[in-house]
Amino acid sequence: MTNKYKLQVYPALVLKQRAKEVLDFNQDLKEKTDAMFEIMYEYNGIGLAGNQAGIAERIVVVDLGKEQDQGRVFINPEIIEAGADRESSEEGCLSFPDIYEPVMRSKAIKIKYVDLQGNSHEEEMDGLLARCLQHEVDHLNGIVFVDRVSKARKIGLKKKLRNLAN
Ligand SMILES: [Zn+2]
Repeated sequence: MTNKYKLQVYPALVLKQRAKEVLDFNQDLKEKTDAMFEIMYEYNGIGLAGNQAGIAERIVVVDLGKEQDQGRVFINPEIIEAGADRESSEEGCLSFPDIYEPVMRSKAIKIKYVDLQGNSHEEEMDGLLARCLQHEVDHLNGIVFVDRVSKARKIGLKKKLRNLAN
């Protein structure tokens, strides 16, 4: 079966949109989530936000490969606490092929989210999962990782973005 959703690459406008809250936990939501996993695995990503599949809804899928963080779905995720302890680490994004830039993020966060069955959860996380969720929640708010790159790196980045847009 072909996927009716496609990876959205910069400068696709949907990447700058604020995604809408999910209200219906139905089969349609499950199908969108499955389509997002398919895209994420096809491009070897570890996380994908709805916007990146052209779905302007607050859905995030993550797979870090490790057992406890395999095939995870976060609906309407919200960061309710972000640790003051921050660190810079290199990030990439499927919507910005071949661009990697260091981004400052909190080392640990606490999030609130809903699962596919409509049940609410709170979870504390750190390491790569915390970084990944901060990156994906940004997407849902129309913010992309290159928006968070330091001033010093912005000039070099502009050229790479111009090449990507052409
Ligand atoms: Zn991304």
